[in-house]
Amino acid sequence: MMVEAFAIEKGLMKKVLLFVGTYFCFVSFVWTQSSNNENIKFIRAGKLFDSERGKILSDYTIKVKNNKIIEVGNTITIPENASIIDLSAYTVLPGLIDGHTHLLHIENVKDKHPIANEVLFTGDALRALRGAKRAKSFLESGFTTVRDLGNSGQFLDVALKQAITEGTVVGPRMFVSGPIISSEGGQVVGILKHHHQITSNEYRIIKNVDDAINAVRENVNYGADIIKICANNTPNNTSLTIGEMRAVVKMAHRYNKKVTAHATSNLAVWEATTAGVDAIEHGYTIADSTLTLMAKKGTVLVPTDISKKLLYKYFELLDFKGDVEKAVISYQSRKRDRLQRAIKADVTILTGSDNYMDFEISQGEAAKNILVAYQEEGMEPLDILRSSTYLSSKFMNMSNHIGVIKKGAFADIIAVRGDLEKDFSDTIFNVVFVMKDGKVYIKE
Ligand SMILES: [Zn+2]
Repeated sequence: MMVEAFAIEKGLMKKVLLFVGTYFCFVSFVWTQSSNNENIKFIRAGKLFDSERGKILSDYTIKVKNNKIIEVGNTITIPENASIIDLSAYTVLPGLIDGHTHLLHIENVKDKHPIANEVLFTGDALRALRGAKRAKSFLESGFTTVRDLGNSGQFLDVALKQAITEGTVVGPRMFVSGPIISSEGGQVVGILKHHHQITSNEYRIIKNVDDAINAVRENVNYGADIIKICANNTPNNTSLTIGEMRAVVKMAHRYNKKVTAHATSNLAVWEATTAGVDAIEHGYTIADSTLTLMAKKGTVLVPTDISKKLLYKYFELLDFKGDVEKAVISYQSRKRDRLQRAIKADVTILTGSDNYMDFEISQGEAAKNILVAYQEEGMEPLDILRSSTYLSSKFMNMSNHIGVIKKGAFADIIAVRGDLEKDFSDTIFNVVFVMKDGKVYIKE
């Protein structure tokens, strides 16, 4: 009985093995066929921005297979019947990186309690849905990657990132911070102590060094890619201590995460830099001595400035009764002075829009204005683009994968109509092509 059953099983097993073998041969044949024919695209670039060297090259071809770039050069032969994307009339660039976004938060210029309103009256579901719409507008504007730095409730950023990654909604690659680690009050203005939990719905309020360590562990555990802290809490007047920030940095680096600090005053920038953070957001006021310290420690600066056009719009929406012209000139000259001194001190500049205002235009388009703001403050177009691509990816330890058009990188590629060097502020808005991860989202 036992012997017979074994013999039958052996015969059956042979048949099964034969079937499985044939099936996999067939599957691998079909797979080879489709990967050879269907998933290879040749992109003809009239001009190509070399983000590592900050140069414009002419007549290059990019070979894309599935979601990766597999070859870039000016001697690539395109085979007959190949799938060609002809961008020979345009300038092709790596997808842009916005290093400071808040996709889950929007403010009306006149709103006195914007963050409390999100927590109390908007809620997670509506915030997430609105966030999805904003994410799409960023991608359509040419931002294929964003670093989303908090004001996203309790990890709504992690959820939105997941929805984009799995293809449920359309948006850029997201690197997210989770709740901002902050001292008492966060950036929620005017909350009574009795209702302080409203702040804790939006920020991770820490009490001391041990709590700082736990906050980093929490954020990392629930999906943060980067740690964001508030060195100072502007518009509130509290701040973290250097000791608390040191503990955050030590713990974050243990998990290979960068730390970036909201720091608006010179003191906050100096303390955060001393504590060892990797980046400073805003840095509206920075003394030369602090810039020297930043350069020495390799701390990068993300100046979240506003372009002239959006400044005028801001004052209009605010119904500002003062001298608008004077206010704009004063704002711009202060920002220009700070940016120029930072560049002179050899501090690396990364691009970040911090766009969370409703300017009555698409959020992605509004965010693009940050690039124009840097130009208005005297930065050269190709330097701005290098900051928004290669230097941003380098900061994220991703310079072989994003922000570059080279072999092995993800196929995150955009194209613009016009001359980036001669007419930057118009050209950068004329996006005619967007590809992310090998998939085309915009093609004029
Ligand atoms: Zn911000």
